[in-house]
Amino acid sequence: MKIQNVAVIGTGMLGTQIAIQAASHRYKVTAYDPDTTAFARILGRLKVRMKNTSRKPTIPWPQMHKAAKLVKHCDSLKEALADADLVIEAVPEDLALKRKLWNQLDRLAPQKAILATNSSSIPVSRMEKSTSRPEKCLNIHFYGLDQGRNIVDVMGGTKTPPSIIKTGKEWVQSIGCVPLTVKKEILGFCFNRVWRAIKKEVLYMWSRGYVDFRDIDRGWMIWSGMSPGPFGLMDAVGLDVVYDIEMVYYRESRDPRDRPPQALKAMIKRGNLGVKTGKGFYTYPDPEFRCPGFLGKSK
Ligand code: NAD
Repeated sequence: MKIQNVAVIGTGMLGTQIAIQAASHRYKVTAYDPDTTAFARILGRLKVRMKNTSRKPTIPWPQMHKAAKLVKHCDSLKEALADADLVIEAVPEDLALKRKLWNQLDRLAPQKAILATNSSSIPVSRMEKSTSRPEKCLNIHFYGLDQGRNIVDVMGGTKTPPSIIKTGKEWVQSIGCVPLTVKKEILGFCFNRVWRAIKKEVLYMWSRGYVDFRDIDRGWMIWSGMSPGPFGLMDAVGLDVVYDIEMVYYRESRDPRDRPPQALKAMIKRGNLGVKTGKGFYTYPDPEFRCPGFLGKSK
């Protein structure tokens, strides 16, 4: 099937980026968000974020700004979905909310449309039953396009045939991204799990007092040539978000080794959430890892 019209439902941090990425690759994009100020607000935040990073975005700001104007904002879900070939849902990570919405998407989108979720952790198999088309349901999970992370996990549900997965992957490629195929359902998809394994290990080492977190970041930065290290990265994501994600894995496994450390919870209680509150592992706007000489110092 040929995808021409894409409907993005929820234009928060991720939905806005996905809508713009698709519009900049000549797709006709409609969007719906009950918060009519969300798209413009996020666009403003993206501009600032892109200015303050050394990473190269998937599309440069002028092109992004231009493509943003091509996204058609609709007053209702019905209008946004009317002619959709592909629907990307990017509303908050709340299964009950998503299930209710997926039922509406199913009723309002044309029968031909593929329904995809950008969820960071929920397999689509947990939403497909809210629809009458489980064979057209997919996880299409993006990472931060503004940070140049153009990888996208693609995973089917219990009834998704290879042809729909193929269509999803081709669409991902057609908008300048790299699909990572998840062949069997797994919590966290592909790259989230890789990043999660690193997070879990470094949080363990820090919280048990084995190593100072700065030395872990130093080691990472020298070894990989990438900045920041895992603790700087967790600060950027938000320590509350990191904690919630770790709890998703813990609730699934019930293995105490998967439980995020109390020391992390204590930081969150103190309001130290990372970049967004000015303090996490590091202090912002001038974190120690960006200071000259950081790599040469050892604790
Ligand atoms: P966000 O809070 O920035 O945006 C969510 C948007 O959804 C808001 O603008 C909200 O008004 C809107 N919304 C709420 N209910 C709605 C409804 N019924 N219909 C339409 N819109 C509705 O969230 P986000 O960070 O963009 O995350 C969205 C999804 O993407 C989540 O499932 C999250 O797990 C996933 N995700 C987030 C990131 C990230 O780094 N933020 C990365 C990958 C995936």
